[in-house]
Amino acid sequence: MYAKVIVDVPAKDTNRAFDYIIPPSLEPWVEVGSRVGVPFGSRVIQGFVVELRESSDYELHKMREIKHVLDPIPPLNGELVELSRWMSRKYACHEITALQAMIPGALKAKYERKIIVSGPKAQPPVEDDREREIIDYILSKESLSMEQLLRRFPADGPLLKEMLIRGRLAEEQEIKDRLSKKTVLTVFPPENPQLLEACLAQLPENAKRQRQLIEHLQTNPEPVKLADLSKRQGISSSAVKALADKGWIALREVEVFRDPYENRVFERTTSLQLTDEQQAIYDEIAASLRMRTHQVFLLHGVTGSGKTEVYLQAIEVCLNQGREAIVLVPEISLTPQMVERFKSRFGDWVAVLHSRLSHGERYDEWRKIQMGKVKVAIGARSAVFAPFSNLGLLIVDEEHEASYKQEENPKYHAGEVAVARGRQSRAVILLGSATPSLESYHRTQTGEYKLLKMPSRVQGRPLPAVQVIDMREELKAGNRSMFSRALHQAIEDRLQKQEQMVLLLNRRGYSTFVMCRSCGYVAGCPHCEISLTYHHNSRTMRCHYCGYAERELNSCPSCKSAHIRFFGAGTQRVEEELVRLFPGIRVIRMDVDTTNQKGAHEKWLQLFRSRQADVLLGTQMVAKGLDFPYVTLVGVIAADTVLNLPDFRSAEKTFQLLTQVAGRAGRHHLPGEVVIQSYTPEHYSIQCASMHDYSRFVAQELKLREAREYPPFWKLILVTLSHGQIPLLVRAGETLADEIRQQWRRLSRHATDAGGDGRLEVLGPVASPISRIKDRYRFQCMIKYRGDVAISGIMDGALSRLEDTVSKEKLQISVDVDPQMMM
Ligand code: ADP
Ligand code: ZN
Ligand code: ZN
Repeated sequence: MYAKVIVDVPAKDTNRAFDYIIPPSLEPWVEVGSRVGVPFGSRVIQGFVVELRESSDYELHKMREIKHVLDPIPPLNGELVELSRWMSRKYACHEITALQAMIPGALKAKYERKIIVSGPKAQPPVEDDREREIIDYILSKESLSMEQLLRRFPADGPLLKEMLIRGRLAEEQEIKDRLSKKTVLTVFPPENPQLLEACLAQLPENAKRQRQLIEHLQTNPEPVKLADLSKRQGISSSAVKALADKGWIALREVEVFRDPYENRVFERTTSLQLTDEQQAIYDEIAASLRMRTHQVFLLHGVTGSGKTEVYLQAIEVCLNQGREAIVLVPEISLTPQMVERFKSRFGDWVAVLHSRLSHGERYDEWRKIQMGKVKVAIGARSAVFAPFSNLGLLIVDEEHEASYKQEENPKYHAGEVAVARGRQSRAVILLGSATPSLESYHRTQTGEYKLLKMPSRVQGRPLPAVQVIDMREELKAGNRSMFSRALHQAIEDRLQKQEQMVLLLNRRGYSTFVMCRSCGYVAGCPHCEISLTYHHNSRTMRCHYCGYAERELNSCPSCKSAHIRFFGAGTQRVEEELVRLFPGIRVIRMDVDTTNQKGAHEKWLQLFRSRQADVLLGTQMVAKGLDFPYVTLVGVIAADTVLNLPDFRSAEKTFQLLTQVAGRAGRHHLPGEVVIQSYTPEHYSIQCASMHDYSRFVAQELKLREAREYPPFWKLILVTLSHGQIPLLVRAGETLADEIRQQWRRLSRHATDAGGDGRLEVLGPVASPISRIKDRYRFQCMIKYRGDVAISGIMDGALSRLEDTVSKEKLQISVDVDPQMMM
């Protein structure tokens, strides 16, 4: 047998599969998705098996053998390998980079592994002779690697594997960055209960504690953790030790999966009676699941419309079919509250994957999926790679969230990957949001996705009333505070009524754009219709798209006022101001500074939930998914901070943020109120958000995007080049841009003849918004295209022109397909 292997050398020359011979002893272990060690040049390196073959076209005498298999159970499967191929084409990354992104970090660490027998040593269950022999052999060895075991039992590959999957054998690995696997001392009663009788008869009357233990085991014959025995039954561990020494019972270390939620008790919930709106949507999704067809649904449900209940019941349909489900949630929304809703419905069938878990915890959760012990995986971005093999449903909650895009290589978008994976495995995809992204919404118009709508909140609760305050008027009226009179009044009112409030300040807009406080004028680029960014060091204002720059302004070009300045106020300043204006006010400030410790985020939310604070003040993190019954006021300090970011999505992001944060108010019996402060209250994103009018917003925004040649009509690829010397960078950037243009000209001549409608433009090279990082300068080219463009061929061709500079001069090139971050 032969294997095609993608080796772990991320370079252009090696971005293809190499052929290797599978030695007969390894044949039962090598599958598509296996990680293997293979000779490559003079070294042995890691690789992933992507295909098995009976024959090879490669010259046999030159071919080498796979040296070893790294994991007894492959970490990936055929479906994920296929997905990595798709990713490498879509995101212009090496296949190995995509493959490595799919496996948990713990697997990448250096480790040694050995095979151990798990389960009771003293009383093995009925096994066949072969199995007995294998177990005895392992027990007789101090430490045994899988390879040694294979060498000893060359014909028993399938049995060994089966024992591993069954859990009779396990591989134990010491991973440097974690304290090996977690084990607990466990007490095993003898399998034959009569032995307990015999033991009791032999124990002296005064051995009270030992008697107590035996009596307990008589009524509870299951293996039990030693710690539980002493904690819950008050049985001393010395009594256990004494009986174990005499051989009546067995005491062994048993591996446990670390469960970060192990100390929480989840009350079981059952399905709620769906509302009519929910029912209609559920019926559509369930029908698609039952037909086992691939279909992408975009569920546009206003905040509080009960999307989660629809998710839960759709998952139930999927599980009943014997298929598995993945739920993606933005990292920030993956709170215990969120997890609880899934755990309390599906109990131990749920694995949770998120980055706040330690490497080891994450690995354990991942292995539950790999071993088929769970059927539902819920997690952030990378959970889209959960190694299920019979996937029926993929849910992407808050699908519009920018955090689904990974900003490091491979720069994938988890929602896009979910759709691609679903297409492969004929699964149903459910994208949900109160503010769907323009990209997804557009696809419902072209017929790629199907739009489902839930326009009302459950139980007839109204959406909150929204007031937009014109801050220019406040200034005119002599109010220079950061709180308008209306917001001031509303805060005072809530303090009196002992209700709670959420105040939002978007820090991402900190000190970046230049605005007139008298008339709301914002300095924009004459060529790009986006705002200029203030650069403090050079005292200039710059365009991040085309490179246009001008000197900072001393007065407003529009109204001549001197109240022009770069804009932004930190959360800390808002907190100080609150405390000054409302003595005794209890404020919880949540921003990157106060939540960078593990568990801090949850601690603050818990504190707020228990009403030990009046105000939850923060950045975007307070806008998403939170559900507090006593919140009746939501205040947005400055809606414009996002609006003026140099990003073509700024209106969309403003609309989303305002809608999401407004959705935090009045979710329960108390009605909610929202106050939005703005210097440009007439802007359509603010107007539409204040009227909860998504349709009007998308209609207007889509028109603008088309006119300005932005996504979703045009596609973007951002290529960033970095190097220590500017002249080299500029040359490389120009080579790249020229090459792309030339390739396109050549191709489009044929394409147009064939009736193609493709268009392509290259902007740049210009200095990147962050023009230097770690002493490396950065330049970028933006490629825009639409219609019939064979983009991956063009990119490949152009990038290969720079191969030499990359290898000889250490030029770095980063390609970001469908970029989310423009700064
Ligand atoms: P969304 O995610 O759409 O913002 P949620 O799923 O959080 O909304 O639902 C809002 C509230 O409505 C939750 O407290 C939820 O328990 C409740 N809810 C959802 N569906 C129903 C239903 N069919 N009957 C009663 N309450 C429901
Ligand atoms: Zn002005
Ligand atoms: Zn510009």
